[in-house]
Amino acid sequence: MIKYSLSCDCGKIFDSWFSSSSEYENLREKKLISCIFCESSSVKKSVMSPNLLSKTNKIDSKTKFQKDIKKQIIGFKKFIEKNCKNVGEDFPREARSIHYDKKKSQGIYGKATPKETAELIDEGIEVATIPWIDKTEN
Ligand SMILES: [Zn+2]
Repeated sequence: MIKYSLSCDCGKIFDSWFSSSSEYENLREKKLISCIFCESSSVKKSVMSPNLLSKTNKIDSKTKFQKDIKKQIIGFKKFIEKNCKNVGEDFPREARSIHYDKKKSQGIYGKATPKETAELIDEGIEVATIPWIDKTEN
């Protein structure tokens, strides 16, 4: 006896026993194997170890996703460095002066602690935080 996991077009997977693999092929050709849920004969052997497969795929796509994010952040960082002024540690002060004095200014970027960032946002100042990746980290 041999046990196969069968999957149906309706999305269900169920186990079925056959005396041999050729019996399975035989029955399948004659469309004598039917889904125990919807009685359709569009059933086929499902992949032997679906859990392992999907797990591996997940890891791969996650790594790719992280790489894409990193690429985007590096691109964003380049854009900021080119178009905005680096004010370093002065960021909270500079951001306030632009906001309150209604100064016309190019964008600025710099460092702020999470607390300082929260205070700026509280005051209605538009601040975006992005993860900063060092180019050397590639
Ligand atoms: Zn079915």
